[in-house]
Amino acid sequence: MSDLLVVGSVALDTVKTPFGKVKEVLGGSATYFSYAASFYTRVRLVAAVGADFPPEHARFLQDRGVDVSGLMTSPEGKTFRWTGEYGYDLNEAKTLDTQLNVLAEFRPRLGDDARRTPYLFLANIDPDLQLDVVRQMATRPRLIALDTMNFWIQGKREALQRVLREVDVVTINEGEARQLAGEPNLIKAARAIAGMGPRTVVVKRGEYGALMLTESGFFVVPAYPLESVFDPTGAGDTFAGGFMGYLAAQDSLDGSTVRRAVVYGSVMASFTVEDFSLQRLARLKPPEITERYAAFHDLIRLPG
Ligand code: AMP
Repeated sequence: MSDLLVVGSVALDTVKTPFGKVKEVLGGSATYFSYAASFYTRVRLVAAVGADFPPEHARFLQDRGVDVSGLMTSPEGKTFRWTGEYGYDLNEAKTLDTQLNVLAEFRPRLGDDARRTPYLFLANIDPDLQLDVVRQMATRPRLIALDTMNFWIQGKREALQRVLREVDVVTINEGEARQLAGEPNLIKAARAIAGMGPRTVVVKRGEYGALMLTESGFFVVPAYPLESVFDPTGAGDTFAGGFMGYLAAQDSLDGSTVRRAVVYGSVMASFTVEDFSLQRLARLKPPEITERYAAFHDLIRLPG
């Protein structure tokens, strides 16, 4: 079992879906990621919040064993806030408002232990900051993965391209993959992104599952078929948490392990969307993960 380090956002999210609305609830890319990954391995979180961040949220992560010593509180600043909305098509979030607040100035300083972490996830955050973290690593991690979104693809494309050259894996939404590659065909888009640096590209397709491109070709998994999806927020980060958490726990990057990791990512994401914020993950019991993984076996079994 190897340790995992994540840098990303810790947020207060306001979210509206056709099934309800929540205001200033716990969210953020690093939050979903670290909570999901904690079911598999030891996770260290590096992020920043403001003085207005409710202390019970940090305790909530700590209770799952997430190392929150790298969660900086800026006494003057305000926590990052994101407001988003989904229509009946839950696959694409519409961002209504982004307030970077403390994230506008955040420059993480990694401690000696953190700099030697073998698995690194650069969750969705400013790509300059993602690169800054890569540069601080004392030893090249065995695996560096990165996630991003339209906000940074539009606003910081060059910085994003610089950090993409340094990573092994990208996890990205379908629409954002097209946007980053400037290519409507998803297969061509995945290949174009692989050409930007990462050997492996994992495209998250919401209720349609995930598509992975590696040096040995494509791999696809469906999403777990759910009858009630309440809030897709965090599904992508939770997917990445299951994916990276499993890889770090196995400490292996062979083809079968990476394929299993995609399924564990899909399993974790399928829980997150069943409730708002991290509420479903908070109730999640490890046997449910095993059960749902087994259900995937049945779901994708082909007759011989
Ligand atoms: P996803 O897993 O793609 O649904 O990501 C949802 C999370 O991303 C939310 O909890 C937001 O707080 C966070 N988020 C939204 N916009 C940004 C941004 N520009 N930078 C970092 N995190 C963000």
